[in-house]
Amino acid sequence: MTMELDCIFCKIVNKKIPASILFENDTVLAFRDIEQKAPEHILVIPKAHVPSIMDQSLARDTGIWDAVLDAIQTIAKDLNLDTNGFRVVNNMGLHGGQTVDHLHFHVLGGRQMNWPPG
Ligand code: 5GP
Ligand code: ZN
Repeated sequence: MTMELDCIFCKIVNKKIPASILFENDTVLAFRDIEQKAPEHILVIPKAHVPSIMDQSLARDTGIWDAVLDAIQTIAKDLNLDTNGFRVVNNMGLHGGQTVDHLHFHVLGGRQMNWPPG
């Protein structure tokens, strides 16, 4: 599995730094964002170091999409976010506001979200 030594999320995958983990299988990991932007704020990431949603490896059948969807649905059910709803966000690149270059999906819930996002 691809990993990058100086990547903070690869370090979380490899348990080199701690995180509050909610869901894990061979392909994905889900853990609480260190800076909660909502009452529930979870990050879902592939365990492999995929830099962004534009990465060509995602076009191949890596199973990442199925695993991300499964994690999001499991988390939403476990945290009872499916009743009132929640938001899934991917920030890509400079204008998208991506600050960690390891693909991640924010799952935000527990309050009314605003639209459009800033
Ligand atoms: P982005 O801005 O790239 O969409 O999201 C990166 C997210 O990673 C931010 O919401 C930030 O709070 C979170 N984050 C950065 N470093 C860590 C860390 O060491 N642990 C955890 N749990 N979250 C982190
Ligand atoms: Zn990484």
